[in-house]
Amino acid sequence: MEDYPRDLAEFERRFATEEACRAYLAQLRWPEGFRCPKCGGRKTWPVGRVLVECAACGRQTSVTAGTILQDTRTPLTTWFRAMWWVTAPKTGMSALGLQQILGLGSYKTAWSWRQKLRRAMVRPGRDRLQGHVEVDETFWGATEAGVRGRQHGEKTLVAVAVEQVGRRGLGRIRLRRIADASADSLQAFVEEAIEPGSVLHTDGWISYDRLEKRGYRHRITFLRGHPKSPADLLPRVHRVVGLLKRWLLGTHHGAVSVAHLDYYLDEFTFRFNRRMSRHRDKLFYRLAQQAVALGPVPYDRLIANHNR
Ligand SMILES: [Zn+2]
Repeated sequence: MEDYPRDLAEFERRFATEEACRAYLAQLRWPEGFRCPKCGGRKTWPVGRVLVECAACGRQTSVTAGTILQDTRTPLTTWFRAMWWVTAPKTGMSALGLQQILGLGSYKTAWSWRQKLRRAMVRPGRDRLQGHVEVDETFWGATEAGVRGRQHGEKTLVAVAVEQVGRRGLGRIRLRRIADASADSLQAFVEEAIEPGSVLHTDGWISYDRLEKRGYRHRITFLRGHPKSPADLLPRVHRVVGLLKRWLLGTHHGAVSVAHLDYYLDEFTFRFNRRMSRHRDKLFYRLAQQAVALGPVPYDRLIANHNR
């Protein structure tokens, strides 16, 4: 059963105490009931307020052990408020906004929380796109990134895949920063993001040539000498790129460096692919669920240039 608060008032009522937050996470982490990570035992004794001890093997654990919430000195109630505020507003919330609303002492803390939660938005083992899929690349940085970006002079390539739905509709998307537009880079993206057997719609860029050998069907739209504009030829990719850039510039004021772009691409994808959800607040449920499904992230890995 998917159990989550429907509005802010309900959220505040339900998650006012550490115990309430812990019980909620336990339900998400062990939906079939507790299982000892060491022996699979089901019976436990409580040890203090946080730990439980396996009755069979004596292993002590907690609902946040081995997750991104592990070892945090921050109360779970604050983490829950952070999860609420990054998911509930339509466009999310920047690290600065989070710092203000949670009353965090430093921007650095707010920022590292934001990155942890962003990482939790990537669903491990998520389904690949299928059917008819438009694929293209776009640049991020330099001109779009505003003043800060220009100062750094950074620029990077982002691969974009969008499922076609009907004549004009947008399905799910995948975004990934790629090193270059070589055949190897684009194929790695396509194979990670799209089911073989799907029909890929691309421009005539040579790097897509070998995809048919990988089990994809391929429909090329030639841009050069074509009377139509790029937006007509791969209209969905162009719409998604427009929305992505508006979101990066609007919600995050363009202050997104190339080194951290992956996190933002993950968050945009998470939001976009769930935009049809009947309840927006279900994003909170998904995020909490994924927060206890993911391993811990040391701070130095957060700030490192992560490449997937
Ligand atoms: Zn055990």
